[in-house]
Amino acid sequence: MQIKTDYLVIGSGIAGLSFALKAAQKGKVILITKSNQDESNTKYAQGGIAAVWHDTDSFEKHIEDTLIAGAGLCDEKIVRLVVTEGTERVKELINLGTQFDKNQKGEYDLAKEGGHSESRILHYKDITGYEIERALLNKINKDPNIEVYDHYYAIDIITQHHLGELITSKTPGITCYGAYILNTKNGHIDTVLSKITVMATGGAGHVYATTTNPKIATGDGIAMVYRAKGHVKDMEFVQFHPTSLYNPEENPSFFNYRSYSWIWCCVKKPKR
Ligand SMILES: Cc1cc2nc3c(=O)[nH]c(=O)nc-3n(C[C@H](O)[C@H](O)[C@H](O)COP(=O)(O)OP(=O)(O)OC[C@H]3O[C@@H](n4cnc5c(N)ncnc54)[C@H](O)[C@@H]3O)c2cc1C
Repeated sequence: MQIKTDYLVIGSGIAGLSFALKAAQKGKVILITKSNQDESNTKYAQGGIAAVWHDTDSFEKHIEDTLIAGAGLCDEKIVRLVVTEGTERVKELINLGTQFDKNQKGEYDLAKEGGHSESRILHYKDITGYEIERALLNKINKDPNIEVYDHYYAIDIITQHHLGELITSKTPGITCYGAYILNTKNGHIDTVLSKITVMATGGAGHVYATTTNPKIATGDGIAMVYRAKGHVKDMEFVQFHPTSLYNPEENPSFFNYRSYSWIWCCVKKPKR
């Protein structure tokens, strides 16, 4: 089957869902995801999301903290962009229905995490990512301009290579026309032709023997772009979640919030 759309979004984590909602204001969106709609790293994010919130805090402080934590590897222009836009983007999540914990005064209960000189982490219990994913999917599923194809696996993006041209990494103007997608329930492969294709397939935690990332984190998007002779860069900034108790029989190593809370209990109450 051949399907045509304005935007093809591959991946249903915070990146893909956020993009899809904005793109839907401009045209028809097809969002494909290889497992259940909500399966993503986003769903398992726990601690929270950092943004400048209080008057005592400032963009400059957050930028400085980030550059120090980046130990000279960060592109300052990008750090400035992310930090200065961060507060507005979090407000958008709130307007979409995401809840964050508040204190008794009714103000957001901001946590202070490693590397931050101010309290600026908004969180929802210990399941912040789950809550963000819930709110985004709720909007996505009500948007008439967005169709979600779950259990569809993007195999490869389509370029001039599929029209018989020889493409190398030095070919100028490599163009993406869409993707081949596998329906994992019936084994059929469909072609999606799209004016714009967005790769939001998350990280590659499962290339390691031990990981806390969910099983979908297999670096598919990175591999698809690499095979299409696109440029893959800044791999050292692909997030993985490093906090875990190593248990050789468990893969992914803990990733649900209940075991996380359990670990916290042990850390906080060492006398028991
Ligand atoms: C346990 C844990 C705790 C974390 N805690 C925090 C935290 O407190 N704060 C924080 O900021 N970050 C945290 N993170 C990191 C954060 O979750 C990720 O950086 C973020 O969610 C990545 O979002 P994403 O949209 O880029 O990718 P993802 O959320 O991983 O979404 C990728 C999507 O692409 C789909 N996909 C992949 N390959 C294909 C394919 N071939 N075809 C179709 N679909 C495909 C997947 O199924 C998935 O839906 C944590 C991560 C983990 C695992």
